[in-house]
Amino acid sequence: MNGADLTRRTSETFAPPLEGGAGARVDGSGKGPVVDDARILLVDDKPELLESLYQLITLHGYHAEKALGGQAALDALARDHHDVVLLDLIMPGVSGYDVLDFVAREKIDTKIIVVSGDASFSGVKHALHCGAFDFVKKPYDAAELVATMETALREVWLENRNQDMEAQLRASEELHRFIVNSSPDLVYMLDRNGCFTFLNDRLGPMLGFEKSELVSRHFSELVDPEYLDLATNVFNERRMGSRAARNVEIKLRSSLKRPGSRFSDVQSIWVELTAQGVYTDPRERNRQTFVGTFGTIRDISERKEAQEVINFQAYHDLLTHLPNRALLKDRLELAITQGSRNKARLAVMFLDLDRFKVVNDNLGHSMGDRLLKAVANRLQSCLRRSDTLSRFGGDEFTLLLPEIRTRDDVVVIAGKILDRLNSPFVIDGHELFVGASIGIAMYPEGGTSAEALIQNADIAMYHIKSRGKNGYQFFAEEMNNRFSTRLILERDLRNGLSRNEFEVFYQPQVCLRTGRITGVEALVRWRHPERGMVAPGEFLPLAEETGLIIQLDEYVQRRAFADVAAWDRAGVGKVRVSVNVSAAQLEKEGFIEQFVEALESAGLNATRVKVEITENTLMQDMEVIIPKLKTLRDLGVSVAIDDFGTGYSSLSYLRQFPVNTLKIDRSFVCDIREEEGEGEASIINAIVAMSQGLKLDLIAEGVENRTQLNYLRQHGCSEVQGSIFSEPLPAAQMCDMLRADPFAEIVVSEARSEQSSGVAAAS
Ligand code: C2E
Ligand code: MG
Ligand code: MG
Repeated sequence: MNGADLTRRTSETFAPPLEGGAGARVDGSGKGPVVDDARILLVDDKPELLESLYQLITLHGYHAEKALGGQAALDALARDHHDVVLLDLIMPGVSGYDVLDFVAREKIDTKIIVVSGDASFSGVKHALHCGAFDFVKKPYDAAELVATMETALREVWLENRNQDMEAQLRASEELHRFIVNSSPDLVYMLDRNGCFTFLNDRLGPMLGFEKSELVSRHFSELVDPEYLDLATNVFNERRMGSRAARNVEIKLRSSLKRPGSRFSDVQSIWVELTAQGVYTDPRERNRQTFVGTFGTIRDISERKEAQEVINFQAYHDLLTHLPNRALLKDRLELAITQGSRNKARLAVMFLDLDRFKVVNDNLGHSMGDRLLKAVANRLQSCLRRSDTLSRFGGDEFTLLLPEIRTRDDVVVIAGKILDRLNSPFVIDGHELFVGASIGIAMYPEGGTSAEALIQNADIAMYHIKSRGKNGYQFFAEEMNNRFSTRLILERDLRNGLSRNEFEVFYQPQVCLRTGRITGVEALVRWRHPERGMVAPGEFLPLAEETGLIIQLDEYVQRRAFADVAAWDRAGVGKVRVSVNVSAAQLEKEGFIEQFVEALESAGLNATRVKVEITENTLMQDMEVIIPKLKTLRDLGVSVAIDDFGTGYSSLSYLRQFPVNTLKIDRSFVCDIREEEGEGEASIINAIVAMSQGLKLDLIAEGVENRTQLNYLRQHGCSEVQGSIFSEPLPAAQMCDMLRADPFAEIVVSEARSEQSSGVAAAS
């Protein structure tokens, strides 16, 4: 027996353990595996042959089991697993064929080598047909038999290894499928033509489509048309690894209804796309081996929404949703660039609401907010699409009008805006009046940069505000020399109050019947350390805006009461003093108490005082104002409606107000001219009729000449105030004037000469 070279080798490498069978060693020499604990079954009906076979096999280091005859073989096979069976064919009783049949029928996994004396072709064929692995003829050559058996064992080992690898592959594929399907991203694969070949389970939840709707469809069907170019670049990705497309943001169509969307059909969502090329041979990347693209799609709609909100907040005013200062500046800069290229003009309007603060302070911020929104809407309705209306905060709006040809265009728009804002806003049953002051800077003459245009429009706005509000004003270079910024003015105002820079001047009010001074109006003046004497028109608007007006009014009233009390003590004729009361002061809580305290500390009787309240103030918050005026009246204080005729009060309103006097605004007095006939001053006639109907006193202010004086007298106005008698004077000079009481003569002789000329004309 030539089995020496078949003995077991010592230098061995270990292969992975085999499932359900022999552990195997692979021979390093390349002569093939020699199975270590292979299970081998030897079957023969002849004990001596069985024994010699056993000797041969165990001599080669294998373990073997003997089965004497067919039945024993069946029992052994049924009981245990065997890798290889060496089977004698011709046996009494249960033959080798029966064993083959049994193995086939029972699907027993084993390799059977038939060892038989029957070497006929049909015998061999039959045996192989029944599932035998190989055939060795008896008497066998020992080397051949062992070699055949080892071939079978090698095959068993290979098969087991394959099965094992398959199982590992299956497990790994399952794992990957699990990972892919539980990915928060949509994972896709495209073939080389751009059609989907794979989509993971995220498809439904993310985009609302069934896989069957998309597989084998072209990616373009899924892409929002606006992003098709970009998407095509990405989905055609051929690169791999770090150079491949990453995080490209596009929009995909989705059939899901998102909260906030109005359409239930197809719409788009934001996604982030990655893609890389897939090749059959990744080392050999070319057109032939390119099979398609694979990548991920991440839903970033929430992030995009948040971003949009953040962007919106960065560039818009959250209350009115109008553009804010930053966005306006952006657009203005763009418009300036275009304007300089096309030699075109543009206008910037700075708009400040006139009585917003009063609403806000008295009716509360939520009412103020609603008013601002309503104002924004009204303003918007005056504008074209290309115009930008922005809110700078507070009650300030800025407007960019990019398509302007002439100043007249701007005048028309400003007029339209003022007109729209003039009709009252009705909010929660309150009728609110807000005028506006509009400053206008035109490019290029009113500034060539965004900053300059905005600032100059602001200066022009401030200018109009100081002139009595509710109007517009173009910027002019000389305005820069005045209070160029409101900040400086505000600072000076505060300083002025604490440094007692404010003084009170008095203007006499003269009775047209007797010519006597019946009263004086207290008017504030500011002795500014650098600018000299400043008239109230220059600083009152800002004092009102900043609330400093309350402090100022209190100061003026205290001063006036003290001066009048001092005149009393000096023994001059007892006059009544009129003090102006601002809306803010009147509406302030505790106003009455403070007013009474000022009177008491000066030792002045309330009947000596008249408060002047402008018509517009009266109209603002009637519920708060009327009871306070009633209290004042009960105390003995008289009430006059100042600047009467400029506001909106109607007869029906007037009846509700506890007033004593109407004070005709000087603009109507100014309209009285010599050459004009009766009809021209018909407003005065109407006011006179009203005062008579309501039994109210009438006083006219701003009377500058005899024509006006006579006209007023003829129409039944009993009292006047104006430069015809005297400009406002400091307290000391007023005291002297009161002592002299110098107008009786003029008035009486004027009345007489008029009477006589009337008599002369009649006769
Ligand atoms: P007003 O109460 O209507 O005061 C009359 C204004 O007419 C005064 O202007 C006065 O100087 C001016 N005036 C007098 N005679 C003539 C005239 O013959 N022709 C013309 N064109 N004007 C004349 P002033 O002193 O500049 O005050 C302007 C406004 O400022 C006042 O109008 C009043 O509404 C307000 N004001 C003045 N002092 C105070 C104050 O202490 N508190 C408050 N809240 N407002 C004040
Ligand atoms: Mg007044
Ligand atoms: Mg007035």
